[in-house]
Amino acid sequence: MVTIKSVDAIALRMPFDDFYAGPRPAPRGWTHFETVLVRVESTDGAVGWGEAFAYSCARAVHAAVTEMVAPLVAGRSVEDIPALNFELQKRLHIQGRYGITIFAISGLDIALWDLAAKRAGKSLADHLGGAHRDRLPAYASLVRYGAPGAVEEIAGRAAAEGYPAVKLHEPDFDCVAAGRSAVGASIGLMTDVNCAWTEPEAAAMISRLKPLDMMWVEEPVFPPDDYEALRRLSQLGVPLAAGENACTALEFSRLTGAVAFPQPSVIKAGGVSEFLAIAALATAAGKTAMPHSPYFGPGYWATLQLGAHLPETGFVEFLYTRPDAWIGENIPLPEAGHIAVPPGPGIGFTPDAAVLDRYRLS
Ligand SMILES: [Mg+2]
Repeated sequence: MVTIKSVDAIALRMPFDDFYAGPRPAPRGWTHFETVLVRVESTDGAVGWGEAFAYSCARAVHAAVTEMVAPLVAGRSVEDIPALNFELQKRLHIQGRYGITIFAISGLDIALWDLAAKRAGKSLADHLGGAHRDRLPAYASLVRYGAPGAVEEIAGRAAAEGYPAVKLHEPDFDCVAAGRSAVGASIGLMTDVNCAWTEPEAAAMISRLKPLDMMWVEEPVFPPDDYEALRRLSQLGVPLAAGENACTALEFSRLTGAVAFPQPSVIKAGGVSEFLAIAALATAAGKTAMPHSPYFGPGYWATLQLGAHLPETGFVEFLYTRPDAWIGENIPLPEAGHIAVPPGPGIGFTPDAAVLDRYRLS
């Protein structure tokens, strides 16, 4: 029996540029990505790579992988990944069904799927049963600039590069209106407000945004798991999207009916195993999942493989920034708003060892 020989985690902190050199209303708040790579090696010498969401707590996620997850899976078979994932959820549920615990499980799950596909000599899409497509439409996901002039410049730049849709992270009406004027009428426009509003504030803003022909408004209310509020706000005639703050297919079974576009994140929701179940829920509900994927490590590559494999697929989220360095060799970047899916093996990710060394958190 081939078993798990080792599980290692690498915490990274990567500076990035957001392309805007003009004046800002406040200093740049978000200047670095943090993430945790998960490396699994099996007893037959195969290696798989995964990624666990970290945002600003890479050391904590690193500890969750190495101290909570790794000891439970050492010596276990590499074969039945969903069963191992479920067992980890059961054994660790006292540490949470959302958040760092599931992020760590997600990283392991992705690494095991990568390893399984490599051992089969296939891309992950082929290993899952075949690919429906070899390129995916992507939208440019802009960081928050907080000023109409900056939004206009960067949204216009993304539109000129051929993206079929542009997503802002702006709760301010004038910023969203500047985005629409920059991209014109034929390009999709979304805004993600990251749970900024109360339900009454959201109702007022969504109604105000309606004439801007939004493809969706994302995460309008706090808390993000107030699905009844999302259900009521969905009646206002503007499509809503949410899901990056939901983990596991069970949680998406509660969320999916409340929004037009469920947004599973492979490095948060429970890895490939849970993502596949979430996508099936979306299809059964007649909805298109729009993957949350503002990251550039193995999670990005896994998202591309899932998008290639699934019968129904939405736009891939591409975080419209430039990191200091790419974590993976030959990362497939959007060209004219589309990303070519790497042929594998596995998810297709090969780390750049020098980059890992340089940006590793001690
Ligand atoms: Mg979002």
